[in-house]
Amino acid sequence: MLAVTYLSSKLFYKLVIIALSVCVVVAPMASQADSASLNISHINWQHSAGYDYASPSWMGKEKLNVRTYSGVDKVKVDEIVKGVTAAYQFFGDRPIVETYGLFWHGRKSDINKVANDVCILDGAPPNERGCMDWMKSWGTQPVVANAGLSGNSLYATMSSNDGWWQGESAGNMHMKIAAHEYFHVYQGAQVRFFEKEGKFGVSRMQRVEREGVGPLWLEEGAAEYFGFNILGMNGWADYQSNMKRMLNQALNEIRDSKSRGVQLSISAMESLGDLDYITQKLGHRPHLQYEGGAWAIAYLSHLTGSNKAAFVDYYINLAENEREASQGGKPGMGWKKSFKEAFGLSVEAFYQKFDNFMTWSESKQMAILMAPGKM
Ligand SMILES: [Zn+2]
Repeated sequence: MLAVTYLSSKLFYKLVIIALSVCVVVAPMASQADSASLNISHINWQHSAGYDYASPSWMGKEKLNVRTYSGVDKVKVDEIVKGVTAAYQFFGDRPIVETYGLFWHGRKSDINKVANDVCILDGAPPNERGCMDWMKSWGTQPVVANAGLSGNSLYATMSSNDGWWQGESAGNMHMKIAAHEYFHVYQGAQVRFFEKEGKFGVSRMQRVEREGVGPLWLEEGAAEYFGFNILGMNGWADYQSNMKRMLNQALNEIRDSKSRGVQLSISAMESLGDLDYITQKLGHRPHLQYEGGAWAIAYLSHLTGSNKAAFVDYYINLAENEREASQGGKPGMGWKKSFKEAFGLSVEAFYQKFDNFMTWSESKQMAILMAPGKM
């Protein structure tokens, strides 16, 4: 069994990024503890009715801790830190949870050291073999990025090799990915935080599964849409042209799939099993969960008049609704109630509206976009 939990399901969706014009970014100096040994606090779990609850000692003093390893371009990492900072400041003064950004080089860094740090942060026992082997393999491949809150340790990580900080830096896409990955940390925290109890709670059943954030198109689409909103708000890239490019990518993918006999729609992209099924039918991994998902979130924001429902309201009762569903024998289904509460319609009704929206003219589609970051 793989010790890396949330992370493991996310690995192989490499983002396909098209290079845009490069803007010059003046980066702040990020404080970087250069791979000093990790000292994370132990979690005291309390068990109740299929859930484990805890209040980690970092609560109330959350920080973004940056760790770089040999061979890393610190200028690029500073730019990513700037992107993550803009992302968490969108919601408040501090990151939502204690967060570690780990940046290494796929060939030049000591992968044993990186893997050991990532595994400690995921709550694996020191040198636990499953986690170490998996990390050493993943961490040396040309990957983009990976992020989430560990259900074992309650620490968040955002991590990757040069595939992120170097490979995606054209057009400031490394900064978009920074905001995208931070949004996954935010999602992972929201689906586990019980506001009234002031505690995190992790379903024992879902420790090693996806944890009920919602359908894949929403999980990835909201992160992607949020990423471009942060970029647009800060003048780091042009919002309209990026959204237009994504719309065209989504429509092209739907058209191309149709020519292969597959009717592609976000409604058929809820679970990893759904993606496997489509992959088998198409002969390649679909990508519509990113661009189509981002546009679905843009359309939901248009329907509700601001980004508040998609960025905040949907997540407020997500942990509570998921616990209710999980304890009622329907784990992973609590999000449907959150969807209806936040957006005012069922997800099934939305699928119909969105499939129709995707047939509109481009000018009509583009006209639904609001100013980036509007709340
Ligand atoms: Zn993602």
